[in-house]
Amino acid sequence: MRPLSVSIDTQSLKNNLNIVKKLSPNSKIMAVLKANAYGHGLIECARNLYPIDGIAVLNLSEAIDLREHGFEHKILLLEGFFDQSEIGIASRMGIDSVAHCHEQIEMINQAKPKKPLNLHLKFNTGMNRLGFPVHDSANLINSLIQNPLINEITLMTHFANADEASGISDQLNQFHHIQNELNLERSLANSAAIIKYPESHYDWVRPGIMLYGASPFSGTNASEFKLQPVMSLTSEIIAIQEINAGESVGYGSSFIAKKKTRVGVVACGYADGYPRQANSKSPILVNHKQTHLLGRVSMDMLYVDITDIFDAKIGSSVELWGKNISVDEVAECSGTVGYELLCAISASKRVPMRYVDGKK
Ligand SMILES: *Cc1c(COP(=O)(O)O)cnc(C)c1O
Repeated sequence: MRPLSVSIDTQSLKNNLNIVKKLSPNSKIMAVLKANAYGHGLIECARNLYPIDGIAVLNLSEAIDLREHGFEHKILLLEGFFDQSEIGIASRMGIDSVAHCHEQIEMINQAKPKKPLNLHLKFNTGMNRLGFPVHDSANLINSLIQNPLINEITLMTHFANADEASGISDQLNQFHHIQNELNLERSLANSAAIIKYPESHYDWVRPGIMLYGASPFSGTNASEFKLQPVMSLTSEIIAIQEINAGESVGYGSSFIAKKKTRVGVVACGYADGYPRQANSKSPILVNHKQTHLLGRVSMDMLYVDITDIFDAKIGSSVELWGKNISVDEVAECSGTVGYELLCAISASKRVPMRYVDGKK
């Protein structure tokens, strides 16, 4: 069998949840498990994250999957209903939804669900992606309070720059213009805001990336926040080439050896989710020693410099990211963020995944 695999450390997932709790002791936790729990497996992650108060996903099918596996948490659909036919099912299964536009409210009015729905009313405070305008909040909230098809209302917004220097103050300021005489619950903070802006925590926090032990801030390592990487992507060396100065490696001959170089060929490529854009600084661990990528990543293979790793041979262990090689650093070397790399592995559906309890 091809030696490439992913292991998911459930103990680290629990550690990271505890970090969220320490940072945000007075808020309820809505764990964001969209995109198959950022590539870590929806059901297994839901099983290992407790106690939490809610789970946020994207699609109704994911919410149904959770209910069918016996999860009785509050479940939230992050972008709301895409289709009127989803509303009756959500109401029957007790699944909550975001509403971000009038069309979605109209869909609910048309569908007339038998059990009233809990809505997270999403306001656009500056991200300009989803959400109602703030200036309209009084009318909107008053009409929903009187709507018998609607039960609980939670006020929600999403930050564009919680991970950037510009921060959240403008958006927070906008959010405070929303009418809230009824003291409705509020949900604002993503991982970056959980770490950096306690003033945004309020009733609910929505951690995503930090649960998986990657950093929401580019250029910052998750270990600075005591977060532990949950996913390890490991493989082996499947071939070795010795090349002389002037000889090259791989497609496009983008690496040309300046001296005699030993090249390890690793079973992992961009079709598995390793970024093709990765530059040659991209760190890789071989036999527990750190080295780096060489040349251009192929579909199923990549190359690593093992000139100075004398004991490296066919079958030697390789860590592409995990406990030793931070996914944040690999992402930096590919001009992207850990989020994208973590999601890509499970999206490829080529890499077998297993769950381990790191404590054992
Ligand atoms: C994905 C998402 C989150 C989680 O964001 P992280 O940066 O991964 O913590 C929170 N809220 C909403 C609305 C999201 O879509």
